[in-house]
Amino acid sequence: MENTNCPICDAGGLKREVIEETFTYKEKSIKVPDYVVYRCAECGEGIVDKDTLKKTWKVLGDFYREVDGLLTGPQIKRIRKKLEFTQEQMAEVLGGGLKAFARYESGRVCQSRAMDNLLRILDAKPDDVKVLLMKDKHSVEGNNADSLTQRKNITTNKGKRRQKTERCTA
Ligand SMILES: [Zn+2]
Repeated sequence: MENTNCPICDAGGLKREVIEETFTYKEKSIKVPDYVVYRCAECGEGIVDKDTLKKTWKVLGDFYREVDGLLTGPQIKRIRKKLEFTQEQMAEVLGGGLKAFARYESGRVCQSRAMDNLLRILDAKPDDVKVLLMKDKHSVEGNNADSLTQRKNITTNKGKRRQKTERCTA
């Protein structure tokens, strides 16, 4: 990178700088140390290092969520572990694309308020996830010893479920 020309003014000699960058969101600030920028001596433009961008994106993902009162990546991961799900299983049971939880946990994507609320409820009452496991016979298989019982429940609850659906559409 140091030998490349500046993409703005095309002058040579970008100089590597390690700084502490401050980011502000809704009047709250966060400092990111070891922030690597390649600075152009000619025009003063700074190009942020690729790894720094990646690292910062993750840090900011948690920072924004904290400011907004949402769960951070590590907190979501802790809840997932409590439920004993893989990231894919979480998405399958709670909704979202297959990569949704990998993204929430890494901070690349921010979960919706609705998903956040759901996660908080499951954190407080992890057993309530059974409600979701029973609603769909295609839900996670072989997740734990209970899954067989849950599948049995699906069959026996079929009549009940149909009744409920009819009531909803009436
Ligand atoms: Zn330049």
